[in-house]
Amino acid sequence: MARRKIIAGNWKMNMTPSQAVALCAELKDLVKSDSVDVVYCVPAIDIVPVVEAVKGTNVQVGAENLYIEDKGAYTGEISAPMLVDAGVKYVIIGHSERREYFKEDDAFLNKKVKKAFEAGLTPILCCGETLEQREMGVTMDWIRLQIKSDLVGITADQVKKMVIAYEPIWAIGTGKTATTEQAEEVCKGIRECIAEIYDQATADEVRIQYGGSVNAGNAAELFAQPDIDGGLVGGASLKADFGKIVNY
Ligand code: PEP
Repeated sequence: MARRKIIAGNWKMNMTPSQAVALCAELKDLVKSDSVDVVYCVPAIDIVPVVEAVKGTNVQVGAENLYIEDKGAYTGEISAPMLVDAGVKYVIIGHSERREYFKEDDAFLNKKVKKAFEAGLTPILCCGETLEQREMGVTMDWIRLQIKSDLVGITADQVKKMVIAYEPIWAIGTGKTATTEQAEEVCKGIRECIAEIYDQATADEVRIQYGGSVNAGNAAELFAQPDIDGGLVGGASLKADFGKIVNY
């Protein structure tokens, strides 16, 4: 089956609310596309103005995080129902920066994936190896462990609707992209892992992105691979180049 490509920007901790609105205006015509899904995953404080700024366009809004409870005494956190009420459709879960700097482990991330589905959000679940793991030859073992642990209790029907982003940590924000072969090899491996846990139909439907220094120059070749269904884009999502990536 043909999977629709999905190109998502991960703005990380960039863009004040007014800068965010200005960026939406700058990108509006550049990211127009009938053939791919376009998502801006934005800082929490930008969600409301960005939802407003992209109204009537082909862009959907994602969050960069969510908490595992719906409400209560969790100072500083944002719940899934809050995101849904604000107009958010997607949420990044398990980005390597959250795994590393905020010590989010797979058991916690599994709860986040469950919470996202419960609220009707589409998770963009990130996984990826360190350079050390790649050099030791354990890339696929590591990623299979992440995927299996993060998806405990998630049904095949849910997996069909979600997005998995393969992001080698050594390629994020470094300008060092995985080769097309490396990216395809792991995305294919993730699909095989999904087929093992669930079934081939689920593996054929789940969308798997590549992320890690995607830019206007390498997007076309990466996205042409049979198991790469688009990209999760950091740095290049904050400039006009993102339009070129969407229309690769
Ligand atoms: C990311 O943050 O998910 C990412 C892939 O960043 P960059 O494109 O800047 O490497």
